[in-house]
Amino acid sequence: MKDIIADRTKLIDASGIRKVFALGASLEDPVDFSIGQPDFDVPEALKEEAIKAIRAGQNSYSQTAGDETLKERIAERVSNEFGWENPAVLVVSGVSGGLLLAFMSLVNPGDEVIIPDPYFVMYKHLVNMLNGKCVFVDSYPDFELPVEKIAGAITSRTKMIILNSPCNPTGMVYSEDQVKAVAEIAAEKDILVMTDEIYEKFCYDGECPSIAKHYEKSLVLQGFSKSHAMTGWRLGYVAAHESLKDVIEEMTKIQQYTFVCAPTPFQKAALAALDYDVSDLVDAYRKKRDLLYDGLKDKFELVMPGGAFYAFIKAPGTSGATEFVEKAIKNNVLIIPGNVFSEKDTHFRISYATTDDKIRQGVEILCSLI
Ligand code: PMP
Repeated sequence: MKDIIADRTKLIDASGIRKVFALGASLEDPVDFSIGQPDFDVPEALKEEAIKAIRAGQNSYSQTAGDETLKERIAERVSNEFGWENPAVLVVSGVSGGLLLAFMSLVNPGDEVIIPDPYFVMYKHLVNMLNGKCVFVDSYPDFELPVEKIAGAITSRTKMIILNSPCNPTGMVYSEDQVKAVAEIAAEKDILVMTDEIYEKFCYDGECPSIAKHYEKSLVLQGFSKSHAMTGWRLGYVAAHESLKDVIEEMTKIQQYTFVCAPTPFQKAALAALDYDVSDLVDAYRKKRDLLYDGLKDKFELVMPGGAFYAFIKAPGTSGATEFVEKAIKNNVLIIPGNVFSEKDTHFRISYATTDDKIRQGVEILCSLI
């Protein structure tokens, strides 16, 4: 079989997460801090909208770029948010779908993509698959946006800068000043910024400032997977200022020959999702964040996460995070080693998207391991 597999598959290493799954498979009722998925279900009202759409026969292809009404509503929303006049919008099969289309449309072999480290793992694999070059900028130990390092990493081959706030895996929310500073650097060199804002609703201590407000050459990715627990519905969107409409057009062309369109009945439900108030859920997640942080802060080195539902925590000792992760898993707590999200192996990621009881239980076990 070996010879029929394309070389690009070797550029993807799934071993880190697979190892955790393999180790966790034998556990009974573990504390699962590994999964990046909300612990609530899709709100009933939105389920009803999807069912209604299916019953009404809205089950065939939509336009490649998405349902017209949904696109209009998204355009209205980003216009209000970023002050853009005539934004270009593409409805995609999850933010993952949007990322694939964006990278395929933008990255040539040898192009450099600046990525703050730690990072959402998909960026690295997509850039590598396209024979681009990841340029990681270290954001340890406080995980703030490393503005100076980003400026220093720019070369004539830099194609774009990736921002992800709130960040997976650190939970950091970048400040207005930081995103403004990156906007200035990018503008000076005329570099595109891709801003992955899938966790924008999960922001616990104020607003989540977007670079798109300060920089027109921002490709914005937002979605419904996390905010409305629709991970299986595969829905997201990419929005850009009018001046980037060519990029959206190229992405639409590739969507035509890959995903074809985002799932039609769920696009209808997404219209209602845009108006659905998730503030109660966000309040519940703020409490989970506090529960986790208060439980671990005296024993572990960790930065208070301001958003998403992750914490990125320094593993005790000096032998690397993987060893501590194995120990935690043997004690029934599933966590992910930091080297899945980073060029370093010093930390581990917790997803606290689980019940408060499980958080308490997991905190107790982790604290007992040092
Ligand atoms: N970006 C980030 C930072 C994520 O954490 C995820 C999901 N884990 C995605 C994008 C993709 O989400 P989806 O494809 O479900 O919209």
